Amino acid sequence: MRLNSIVNRFVSKLSIPHPVPPSPRHRVNPRTKFKYLITGKWRLIAIAVCLFLILLGKGQATPLPPLQTHPLPPQLAQWEDPSNSGDYFDRVQPTSVGYLVWSEFPIKVYIERPTDSHLQSDRRFQAWVNAVQTAVEEWNVYLPLTLVEQPEQADILWERVRPPLRATLNRETRQFEIPTARNAEANYKVYRRPGTPPHLAHRFTIQLSPSQTDEDTLATARHELGHALGIWGHSPLKTDALYPTQVRYPPPISPRDINTLKKIYQQPTRLGWSIETASKESPHL
Ligand SMILES: [Zn+2]
Repeated sequence: MRLNSIVNRFVSKLSIPHPVPPSPRHRVNPRTKFKYLITGKWRLIAIAVCLFLILLGKGQATPLPPLQTHPLPPQLAQWEDPSNSGDYFDRVQPTSVGYLVWSEFPIKVYIERPTDSHLQSDRRFQAWVNAVQTAVEEWNVYLPLTLVEQPEQADILWERVRPPLRATLNRETRQFEIPTARNAEANYKVYRRPGTPPHLAHRFTIQLSPSQTDEDTLATARHELGHALGIWGHSPLKTDALYPTQVRYPPPISPRDINTLKKIYQQPTRLGWSIETASKESPHL
C-alpha cells in the first residue's frame, strides 16, 4: 500500500440505508484467448518488464515508523471522570498506522470562510462558521486546538459542503447501501511531513453540510471533530457525542467521550514518529 493511498472515511449521521441492486458480475468472455495475443519472446519481455516494475515499486516504498506511544497530552493526563461512567474504547478501530493520535499541539484547524462580498453578508454561512468554532472551543478543553488562516497550514480542514452520496458495504447484509441524506463526512490521509527528521503525519478533511439547523450543525461538528481527534468509532449510547445517529436533543461532549479519548491517546501509533529512523524490518506503506 502506498503512502498517499491511505484514505479513510467516516460516513456520518442521518444515513438512512437503501439497499442497492447488485451490479451485474464482471464477465469474461470464455472464448478470449489472451495467451495468443502475446507470443514467443515478446511474452518473456512482457513478464520481465512486469517484474522490473514490481521491484521498482518495492524499492520506492516508504518504511513506516514502528508503533510507539506518545506522552499523554497534559489536559487528558489531568482528566478524571468523577462519575466513573466508563468508555467505549472497544468500539474504536485502530488503523494501518495505529491509533489516530495527534502529537504536535496545538492542532491546527482551518474553517472555510465566505470569499466574496455577497457571501460575507450571508448570515447562514456565518452561523455555520460559528457552530464549527463552538465545537472547536468545546474540544479545546481536552486537546489544544488553534484556528489558522490558510487551508495549507491545517491539520484539520472544514469544508462547507454537503458530502457526496457514496455507496458503502454493509458488513452484516453483504449489500451495498446508499444513504438518502448525509450531513457530514470525515476522512483522513497519511503523508510524509518534511522536517528534520521527516515524520509520518495525517491530515483530516471534514465536509459539513450547509443546510442543517444551527443546533444540528453544532452537534454534527462536535461529532465529526471527535472522529478527527482520534475517536475512530462510535458510541452505542445516545448520551455521547459520538453516537452515530442524530438525536432530538444532541448531547454535549460526555465524560465517556473523554474517557475514550484518553485511552486512545495511551495507545501506540506510527503517526508523529520519524520516518528516517524507521528500521528496514518495519512494514511499508
Ligand atoms: Zn460518526
